[in-house]
Amino acid sequence: MTTLEIKNLKVKIEDKLILKGVNLKIRLGEIHAIMGPNGSGKSTLAHVIMGHPAYEVVEGEIRVNGTNILELDPEDRAKLGIFLAFQYPVAIPGVKTLEFLRSAVNNIRQERGLPIIPYGQFISNFKNALEKLDLDTQFMYRYLNEGFSGGEKKRFEIVQMLLLDPKFIVLDEVDSGLDIDSVKIVANVINQISSKVGTLIITHYRRILDYVEPHYVHVMIDGKIVASGGPELAHRLEEKGYKWLNEENSS
Ligand code: ADP
Ligand code: MG
Repeated sequence: MTTLEIKNLKVKIEDKLILKGVNLKIRLGEIHAIMGPNGSGKSTLAHVIMGHPAYEVVEGEIRVNGTNILELDPEDRAKLGIFLAFQYPVAIPGVKTLEFLRSAVNNIRQERGLPIIPYGQFISNFKNALEKLDLDTQFMYRYLNEGFSGGEKKRFEIVQMLLLDPKFIVLDEVDSGLDIDSVKIVANVINQISSKVGTLIITHYRRILDYVEPHYVHVMIDGKIVASGGPELAHRLEEKGYKWLNEENSS
């Protein structure tokens, strides 16, 4: 069984402790959601899973199938099959989407012992993925994220995800900046692949969870998971807000 396991993770940025002992275990086929107010450390967790160099892990581990990935750089984590869709995707000047993605796909295939993807096959996969996300085929020939609208960037991240065929996906505020039709499109794609991957949806807002039903919901407050439950927990949060948990924790 393939798992991504986070144990007692403590993380600092600029000498400030942000994550204060996070534990989480995600198996293939499971959808987990982390909810929590702004500033609670959700994006920090996503970045640390992917290996962002600005964050200092002071304690704990993240294991994929037993391997501690904290020693790996982001590229090697991607090769292991970890994918992060960013809250704020960035443009890479002068890089065209097609070349960028073809080389990313081939890097990962090489790691998996697969031959380079035939050009025609890649183009056909790319077109397919764009179609699923309701993006025009001209996105194959554009510069990565340059001049993309907020919603297009978000949907293009999901295109990348489909092409890279990851094992674990972390989606940080994937629905922010998306109109309701786009939320449904993205949710649909997540639902289609979710039985084959481990999914972590990070959101401060339950909207996306109306379309992707998580198996587990965790609440992060002040760098810790303070409550875990099933999908009903997301509904209780919507009714009662995060304050309700703060009060329970301090009592
Ligand atoms: P969330 O995604 O839950 O809104 P973040 O993980 O983005 O929260 O932020 C958690 C805390 O870490 C916040 O207090 C934020 O100000 C702080 N933080 C995040 N990134 C940095 C940074 N680069 N420098 C200083 N503080 C940071
Ligand atoms: Mg965030």
